[in-house]
Amino acid sequence: MKIIVCIKQVPDTSEVRINPETNTLIRDGVPSIINPYDMHAVEAALWIKDTLGADLTVLTMGPPQAETALRETIAMGADNAVLLTDRAFAGSDTWATAHTLAAAVKFIGADIIICGKQAIDGDTAQVGPAIAEFLDIPHISYVSMIVSVSTDSITVRRLMDEGYDVVEATPPILLTVVKELNQPRMASLKGKIRAKKIEIRKLTHNDLSLDDKDLGLKGSPTQVKNIFAPEQKKDRIVIAGSAQDQADELISILRAIKCI
Ligand SMILES: Cc1cc2nc3c(=O)[nH]c(=O)nc-3n(C[C@H](O)[C@H](O)[C@H](O)COP(=O)(O)OP(=O)(O)OC[C@H]3O[C@@H](n4cnc5c(N)ncnc54)[C@H](O)[C@@H]3O)c2cc1C
Repeated sequence: MKIIVCIKQVPDTSEVRINPETNTLIRDGVPSIINPYDMHAVEAALWIKDTLGADLTVLTMGPPQAETALRETIAMGADNAVLLTDRAFAGSDTWATAHTLAAAVKFIGADIIICGKQAIDGDTAQVGPAIAEFLDIPHISYVSMIVSVSTDSITVRRLMDEGYDVVEATPPILLTVVKELNQPRMASLKGKIRAKKIEIRKLTHNDLSLDDKDLGLKGSPTQVKNIFAPEQKKDRIVIAGSAQDQADELISILRAIKCI
């Protein structure tokens, strides 16, 4: 069985600030981390590898420094890592990102592809399902438990608004995972030594034979017009009186501000 996990290197959002003049993210000096949801995707793949035996490749599309994130996953136990890096990929929106990642997945080959539910910077949750669409394979999103897995079937639990679904699928399949799925493991000493030495495979535009018009900014139909931090309102109203009085007053306040 071959598994690919897609990871994204993201700014550590606990420290992200917005430039109020340009309304863009201040990335300078902000440390990068592996998107937290993707750590759960890596752990899920390692669990399948431990259970069934599998070859696990971790894939990212990003600048050369994204190699650091890939080495972290090798230290956790991934077999191989691939960095999709090319100036032609710069400025990709979710369509172009998913299109390029899907071409790389096709190039490498996989029975199961695992993504995080969403990236904590872009936050769209579109890339995983879009990769599946480009590959013309089914996907199961919001996976919170792998119930069973064999070489020809996988059964998972997916989170829904009111409870969960249990879904069975036949590979090839793409999963997107949530944090409830597992607890990502620590890197081992053996893994860390391997991670230092391993050569990270790099793929470019030429390796994937993609059309120029589908790449990077040129291939991105989405246009970001503006980014801004929502205005924070700190007004507080303390409602006193009996439970009935408090409920009545709350309702009239909500009506006055057109919340109900
Ligand atoms: C016009 C435009 C220009 C942009 N330019 C830039 C830019 O120059 N630099 C920049 O950083 N962002 C840029 N972005 C944002 C960028 O497009 C998104 O961050 C990216 O497409 C992924 O979307 P997301 O972050 O919402 O991922 P989500 O859909 O929320 O991610 C879901 C999952 O998909 C996988 N995934 C997502 N991205 C990757 C990746 N790159 N490699 C591997 N796996 C991945 C991960 O498993 C992740 O958990 C731009 C966006 C637009 C619309």
